[in-house]
Amino acid sequence: MQIHSIRPTVLCFSGLDPSGGAGIQADIESIGASGAHAAVACTALTVQSSQKVFGFEAVDSALLAAQAKAVLDDFPVRAIKSGMMGTVDNIHALAHLFESGAIATGTPYVLDPVLVANAGGALGDPKTLAKAFDKLLPYAALITPNTHEIRALSGCQDLHDAAKSLNRRGAKAVLVKTSHDFQSGDIEQFLYIDEQITHTSVVPRLAGEFHGSGCSLASHIAGRLAMGDDLISAITATDAWIHQALIHADRPHSDPEAQLIPNRFI
Ligand code: PLP
Repeated sequence: MQIHSIRPTVLCFSGLDPSGGAGIQADIESIGASGAHAAVACTALTVQSSQKVFGFEAVDSALLAAQAKAVLDDFPVRAIKSGMMGTVDNIHALAHLFESGAIATGTPYVLDPVLVANAGGALGDPKTLAKAFDKLLPYAALITPNTHEIRALSGCQDLHDAAKSLNRRGAKAVLVKTSHDFQSGDIEQFLYIDEQITHTSVVPRLAGEFHGSGCSLASHIAGRLAMGDDLISAITATDAWIHQALIHADRPHSDPEAQLIPNRFI
C-alpha cells in the first residue's frame, strides 16, 4: 500500500440536497472530477426532490464556523467555494473567517450566490441574502451568479452593467451567462475583470433544465484553481467538463418536464 499526501483541498460551504443533484453532493463529485479533494462545512439541510424545494433548516452559524475551522486547521486548503448559505448569520460567519485570517489571505474563493433553487423554492430570504453577499464580494476571486442572482445582487437589469457593478464592489472576476435570458440560441458567457470583458465563450444550449448545474460549475472551477490553474484555464477546463456532464445527464423519472441530474462521473 502506498500512502500519498492529500490532494489540494477545496473547502466548500454548502447545503445538503437529499436528491443528490445540487449542493454538497454536486460539490464533492465536481471537485473530485477536477482532481482536487472536497471538504465540506454544511450550511443547511434542505428537504427537496429533484424538482422542488419543500423546506430547509439552516445550521447555526457557530456550528458552521466550527466545522470550517476543524478543516482549516488540518488540511492544505487551496481554494474556498460557497453555495447555499441559508442565513445572513452564516454569510457573516464566512466573512469573519476571511477577516480574521482563519482562511489564509489570497486563497482563491469562488462565490456562487445561491438565492433560490432553479426549480423554484426558497433557499433563504432572497432580499436579505442578496444584501449580505456584499460582505463576501471583496474576498471573491470569482463570482458565478445566474441571471436572476446577478440582477438581485447588483440592482441592474443589464447584465453587463450588473457585472461591472459587482467588480466595483470588490469581486475580482464575474462570470455571466445569458442562459436564463433567452429560451433559444447558444449561451454566451462573459468574464468581467476590472469592469472589462476579459474572456468570452459560447456554449451550445442543451434541451432541458438541469438540477445542480450552477453548483457543479462553481465547484469544478474552484477545484481547478486549487490544482493550480489560472482563472481562464480553470473556466475553460470546466466548460468542457460540464458540457459532458450535462449531455450525459440522467432523468430521475418519466416526466418529460423533469429536471435532469448532471452525470458527473463521465
Ligand atoms: N445548493 C443547494 C443545497 C440546493 O438545494 C440548490 C438547488 O436546489 C442549489 C444549491 C442551487 O442549485 P443550482 O446549481 O441548480 O442552481
